[in-house]
Amino acid sequence: MSAIKNVVLLQNSTAMPDAYGAATHVVENQPTDLVNYNLFKADIALSESVNLEGAVWATEDLNRFGALIGTAEYLELGHLANKFQPEFDTHDRYGRRVDQVRFHPSYHALMRVAFEEGIHSSPWTDKRAGAHVARAAKFYLLSQVEAGHGCPIAMTFAAARAIKMQPDLAAQWLPKITARHYDPRNVPAEQKQALTIGMAMTEKQGGSDVRANATRAIPVGIEGPGQAYELVGHKFFVSAPMSDAFLVLAQAPGGLSCFLMPRWRPDGSKNPMQVQRLKKKMGNTSNAAGETELRGALAWMVGAEGRGVSTIIEMVAMTRFDCMILSSGGMRMALTQALYHCRNRSAFGKLLSDQPLMQNVLADLALESEAAMSMTLRIARALDHRDNEHEDHMARLGTALGKYWICKRTAQHACEAMECVGGSGFMEDGPMPRLYREAPLNAIWEGCGNVQCLDVVRVFRKEPETVVAFFNEISAVRGLHALLDRYVDELQNDLIDLSDMEYRARDIVDRMALSFQAAQLVRTAPSFVADAFCRSRLDSRSHHQYGALPRGVDVVAILDRALPSQFE
Ligand SMILES: Cc1cc2nc3c(=O)[nH]c(=O)nc-3n(C[C@H](O)[C@H](O)[C@H](O)COP(=O)(O)OP(=O)(O)OC[C@H]3O[C@@H](n4cnc5c(N)ncnc54)[C@H](O)[C@@H]3O)c2cc1C
Repeated sequence: MSAIKNVVLLQNSTAMPDAYGAATHVVENQPTDLVNYNLFKADIALSESVNLEGAVWATEDLNRFGALIGTAEYLELGHLANKFQPEFDTHDRYGRRVDQVRFHPSYHALMRVAFEEGIHSSPWTDKRAGAHVARAAKFYLLSQVEAGHGCPIAMTFAAARAIKMQPDLAAQWLPKITARHYDPRNVPAEQKQALTIGMAMTEKQGGSDVRANATRAIPVGIEGPGQAYELVGHKFFVSAPMSDAFLVLAQAPGGLSCFLMPRWRPDGSKNPMQVQRLKKKMGNTSNAAGETELRGALAWMVGAEGRGVSTIIEMVAMTRFDCMILSSGGMRMALTQALYHCRNRSAFGKLLSDQPLMQNVLADLALESEAAMSMTLRIARALDHRDNEHEDHMARLGTALGKYWICKRTAQHACEAMECVGGSGFMEDGPMPRLYREAPLNAIWEGCGNVQCLDVVRVFRKEPETVVAFFNEISAVRGLHALLDRYVDELQNDLIDLSDMEYRARDIVDRMALSFQAAQLVRTAPSFVADAFCRSRLDSRSHHQYGALPRGVDVVAILDRALPSQFE
């Protein structure tokens, strides 16, 4: 009885706290969640880049999309899809092998929107100039809500490029791969309207070094491109194992070759690509990744026998580009959260966003974010115009530079943005831990940092005309910023002797990426952005920590541009 009395008393005290002088839990000086805003409208730099890089026609659609995904309901999907992680069943209750990954409904909702919006395929079906730019901008927006489902979107998008190399398979598979539908059923591809595609290269004994692949491909009948084989081996990392088919590398009699391996055989039986377990990932948790055994899995050869790496690199080049998009999107969301928080939180009598030292940190984060997005959309334009020689060189080299540089810069950026939010930034029920744990991933998969640098070294050795095109691109803004001119001269000077390029590759690639970003901002961004970027990153003092912008930078203008005040 007395317990009930106590509850009543407690309830009363909550209703009338002042009666006890105990109003201890009134929440003051804390923002509410940033929801119900248009992610596209809030991003001035993005809409300018979309126009400048050739996709002005997409503005209306991006505006609609930005409003849709900025609603509280949509943003919540991103949170839920990570909170309720995928589960895996090897068999059904009767003992039949099913390899079924079960996702929370929020994950399916995110996937459905992405596929219906065509983020997995639009440049392959929409022939307008600027299609890659429009798609990159949309994916950049989407990735700010949730990055994990970006993986199957990116792989499905990229796979189309490699599958095209085998016209008979392409005619059969591409219509369903590019269809704007989402069909998550675990049934044979023949019964579905829309398909998703994964990729399986990495094995235990070698990831970067895919030529160490030991999986064997045994011909079922006639050998060669388009023909059926059975694969025996393992794949140590297979993201999105619920995909309908996978591009796989395996050793055929004539050498390492690329194969398309369906999840189900066309006769309706289970293809023995058996998922052993799901990976225990530190981030990217909405997305499943599996370890698999291939026990005679049916697959068709894609492209020439023995040319597996050059076939699958068509896919990998596109997923590497998507890593740039995803990391740029992650930076943008981290910046937005940091800036929003600091505009709604005071300390020592002033808003955090009005404190000079915090302005320095936030403006520096904004410069990094804009440079990443701008470089990404520039490479998207190059992809739109690959028939032009210069643009083709930019797509080739710019992807390696951007995949290395942008994806590497994201982790430190996420950490600094989290710190701007203070202690609450460290809490799991907010967005910062998710951004932080996601941040290193794009630097690792699809080829780690060193592998990207070695790819640039390969360009120096085998495609010197691409290096010439790179310097032509930067020279277009020669004379517009003295620091940039000097920086590029020094870089060129250090390239006269290429003898120990592997050892020096990180230093060289860092500087190439920075020159590219600086030139891009000088060409496209307001002078207060471009000048601050050049002065903080290209002078003799290197950029050790965020928040060390030099004197005279217009931080207020940079922050107004980063998130206009109506979005506070
Ligand atoms: C969450 C997640 C999902 C993944 N999903 C997939 C997937 O779907 N399909 C798939 O095929 N793979 C997938 N991977 C695997 C990923 O692509 C590999 O982990 C990556 O390519 C590195 O390979 P590795 O792990 O074998 O590392 P290693 O190849 O052993 O590399 C270790 C380190 O050595 C460096 N290194 C390698 N060679 C050199 C060199 N010559 N000089 C200097 N440094 C070098 C690398 O840069 C790296 O830093 C996934 C990985 C993760 C984390």
